[in-house]
Amino acid sequence: MSYSEKDCIFCKIIKGEIPCYKVYEDKDFIAFLDINPVNMGHTLVVPRKHFETVLDIEKWRFGEIMKLTKKLSQRIINATKADGFELCINNKKAAGQLVPHLHIHIMPRFKNDGLKFNWPTKKFSQAEMQKIANKIKNSL
Ligand code: AMP
Ligand code: ZN
Repeated sequence: MSYSEKDCIFCKIIKGEIPCYKVYEDKDFIAFLDINPVNMGHTLVVPRKHFETVLDIEKWRFGEIMKLTKKLSQRIINATKADGFELCINNKKAAGQLVPHLHIHIMPRFKNDGLKFNWPTKKFSQAEMQKIANKIKNSL
């Protein structure tokens, strides 16, 4: 087991060493309330196996966690009567990942809930946009 797994807070929750408000579990995944919710019902969907980011998890398991996220999103909407919801996965520190165990945030949103999730945007030249589009298109 790697160092990060040994100290991983979500691995500890999965092993039952740290309590959580569990909303779902099966043999591959667990979902529990975020301890610092942005709104009531903010849930984290987590693979039981430790992966750091989306790039580390197997394709099949990522497919399954997305299907589960869809199912749980509906349940969360039903339970909270939210007007909408956001799905978010932060990958790596630079992108705001605080817990290095892959997880999907399901964040219920309410009209006028005061949250501002729209990021400020940047301007790039047409040449820069075309260049990066080509680079992404042609990268393996
Ligand atoms: P991220 O920035 O995507 O890595 O988000 C990590 C999330 O995990 C944060 O929203 C935290 O509030 C949440 N979190 C950290 N520790 C716990 C815990 N013990 N139980 C539930 N949620 C947690
Ligand atoms: Zn972990």
